[in-house]
Amino acid sequence: MEDFDCDVLIAGGGPTGVTLAVLLARRGVKVIVAEKEADIYPLPRAAHIDHECMRILQEAGAADEVMAGSRRASRYDFRNAKGEVLLRFEGAEQIAAGGWPAANMIHQPSVEAALRRSLAACANAKLQSRCELLSFVDEGDGVAAQIDTPEGKRTIRARYLVGADGARSPVREASGIAFEDLNFEEPWLVVDVLVDDYARLPSENLQICDPERPTTCVLMGEGRHRWEFMIKPGETAEQVSDDVFIEKLLEPWNVKGAVRMERKAVYTFRARIASQWRKGRVLLAGDAAHQTPPFAGQGMCSGLRDSANLAWKLAAVVNGETNDALLDSYQPERAPHLRATIDMAIMMGKMVCTTSKWGAFLRDIKFKLARALGKLPDGPPEYPTLSTGVILAGSAGAGRYFPQVVADDGRRMDDQIGSDHCIVSRDDMANAELAPFAEPLRAWLDRHAAEAVLIRPDRYVFGTGDVDQLRDAWHVATGLRST
Ligand SMILES: Cc1cc2nc3c(=O)[nH]c(=O)nc-3n(C[C@H](O)[C@H](O)[C@H](O)COP(=O)(O)OP(=O)(O)OC[C@H]3O[C@@H](n4cnc5c(N)ncnc54)[C@H](O)[C@@H]3O)c2cc1C
Repeated sequence: MEDFDCDVLIAGGGPTGVTLAVLLARRGVKVIVAEKEADIYPLPRAAHIDHECMRILQEAGAADEVMAGSRRASRYDFRNAKGEVLLRFEGAEQIAAGGWPAANMIHQPSVEAALRRSLAACANAKLQSRCELLSFVDEGDGVAAQIDTPEGKRTIRARYLVGADGARSPVREASGIAFEDLNFEEPWLVVDVLVDDYARLPSENLQICDPERPTTCVLMGEGRHRWEFMIKPGETAEQVSDDVFIEKLLEPWNVKGAVRMERKAVYTFRARIASQWRKGRVLLAGDAAHQTPPFAGQGMCSGLRDSANLAWKLAAVVNGETNDALLDSYQPERAPHLRATIDMAIMMGKMVCTTSKWGAFLRDIKFKLARALGKLPDGPPEYPTLSTGVILAGSAGAGRYFPQVVADDGRRMDDQIGSDHCIVSRDDMANAELAPFAEPLRAWLDRHAAEAVLIRPDRYVFGTGDVDQLRDAWHVATGLRST
């Protein structure tokens, strides 16, 4: 370690990089986050975080603060120009499998601030602002990165480098890793407002699938609301960002006097996925590895899932508990999950971004029929599971998301079982830490006809079976020993 400044250097202090840093630091890994900007990115971005990602924030020590500033919509509706419902998601308030409300509306800079506070409490991790990664060399046993700091250029040597440096990712570019384009590209204007009178705003999240001007209207964290407007051919970013133009766009919503504009930005929504997520000692995570249109509210969430997947593997490798072959499971596990998530977002995006009247007419028939036939049931969306990687294929439940049970007194299971992998068997139910959760855990084992389950640190099911068999299989799959 003498030669290394840290175990893991993370380029980029956005939500992916900071979450990864906290999860690594809490596992004893020495981390430096190099962030080129002085402050958190201030423009409008994520407004939604799902229950599985709230659970990741729980592990990172930021969930209570994020929850306190979040709001929940009464439902998420995709409506046509006549106001008819084409697609509906309900149940945002319900405690979902992650042990948190299903869909939470947030203000991304506040989430990032909460994460940075958690990071500041970790003695073995530091965020260095105004430090831009310029270049790096993979030296085989580590990575030497050139960083431009306020005091001048310096070299940081680390065992691993993670590029969590956003969509333009200099780390990805320098690694010569290409994006696969998933064929979605639409320009939108995003407007965030401060709210003075909630009574005059919708309580639902809305996609107005009007071919004349596809529009989004969603809740955000406490005190804010958002509109997004698709930019028409011929309109420029400058034109649509003009305050008078925005006032006109907001007119049909009749919110003058109820809201004040806070910030606005023009984005091109894209769907892309990097062809390679690991090259030697360099890994990519978050927007650096993939981008999704925001209609499913999953871009930041996907970055948090990358961090949760990578953290326990990278920690096990740098802590000398196993060899680096474990890192090769990162992309095979995360990329199919991402593709399924992006497919859902593209389906929603195409539905919203239809600008031909005839296309909208056919779309409406298709969705109204599907709803009438019960093929699009209302309810919270479901997120993909793991189909490959570190799972005991063939055992019941392998790869599924393991629910976080919440006890009657509000205690959450993960706070009792910790953040390592964990075997839960029928014999353990009487243990003091599991007793409050025993009934739903036993029901889960019954449903899978299992004696025991091995839950991975990122809360996916490795597999089911008897305890000895699970210990052996986990060791074979990961090189890690179970206690
Ligand atoms: C309009 C809009 C709405 C969205 N809505 C949602 C939503 O509802 N839910 C959701 O989950 N997601 C949503 N997203 C997506 C979400 O904002 C992003 O996916 C998320 O910010 C990605 O996080 P990241 O940490 O991977 O990258 P970023 O947040 O982009 O962070 C990357 C960081 O790397 C830094 N950096 C870059 N280059 C260097 C360098 N050379 N050296 C050091 N630092 C560097 C940057 O300054 C930046 O701070 C939305 C996005 C948009 C635009």
